[in-house]
Amino acid sequence: MALPLGMDNYFNNATYNSIADVMLPHTTNSYWYEFDEISKYNVHLNYLERMWAAWYAYIGNDVLATGIMSFLMHEIVYFGRSLPWIIIDRIPYFNKYKIQDQKVPTAREQWECAKLVLISHFTVELPQIWGFHPMAQYCGLTTSVPFPSIWTMAYQIAIFFVLEDAWHYWTHRAMHWGPLYKNIHKIHHQYSAPFGLAAEYASPIEVMILGLGTVGTPILWCAITKDLHILTMYVWIVLRVFQAIDSHSGYEFPWSLHHFLPVWAGAHHHDVHHEKFIGNYSSSFVWWDWLLDTESGPEAAKRRRERRALKAKKAA
Ligand SMILES: [Zn+2]
Ligand SMILES: [Zn+2]
Repeated sequence: MALPLGMDNYFNNATYNSIADVMLPHTTNSYWYEFDEISKYNVHLNYLERMWAAWYAYIGNDVLATGIMSFLMHEIVYFGRSLPWIIIDRIPYFNKYKIQDQKVPTAREQWECAKLVLISHFTVELPQIWGFHPMAQYCGLTTSVPFPSIWTMAYQIAIFFVLEDAWHYWTHRAMHWGPLYKNIHKIHHQYSAPFGLAAEYASPIEVMILGLGTVGTPILWCAITKDLHILTMYVWIVLRVFQAIDSHSGYEFPWSLHHFLPVWAGAHHHDVHHEKFIGNYSSSFVWWDWLLDTESGPEAAKRRRERRALKAKKAA
């Protein structure tokens, strides 16, 4: 039996009469009490699924449960993934892997950047995260246990990567058009030599437009197929945040992913974008820039020159 996670119905047929009703947990039981109760009657669920169900039961309000979980997850993943890059910046050994050498951000620069990112998370992202659960439910996103299989999650996430990349390419390219650049995208380009924390250093409007690619892609998928679990969405967002931070890291290693997966964009792709302010507009893959001839950097410029020379020779 699948345990319905509409815990509003399952545990408390509650109607909310006041703000306090919404803001406070509806059960006085501890989280682990809920966990034990769920474990007693749902032996078919694995440990993670029981923890998930217990969380919703403990909070007793789906909107709040999803909201807190989403916000905390994003903060932990964002700053947790940025931390190794902050440490690496302070270790001289890694300097040789820096794409734009000598341009290691100072501690002060990193702190200033973190401050703006934090303000934006609390003022722009938090209210949006709160609206996420009702919207997800409206589109038919599953929040119940058991979880989907690993294969279902993997193929759906692969599709999201491809679709988000297309969205990112076109919106990012559009934001490099004069007025949009000046009024929106310029903030993100403050750092010509990027670092992990700078991934979400951007105007609130940009965060909303680009964020729509990350959140909207799975929502669209769900609206069409009616087959998406919120956990798949979480794993996708975690991987997408990893991708964004790593591509801003400023480091290129012999073991970087694009060496094994040549269509993967990675840090060397986005770093040139920050250095030259033009070209390399996509997020995860190189195919859009390659197809539409918007690749940036000296090698791409050389290829372009060669093509032009060849054309001129043919015309002569
Ligand atoms: Zn840009
Ligand atoms: Zn960037």
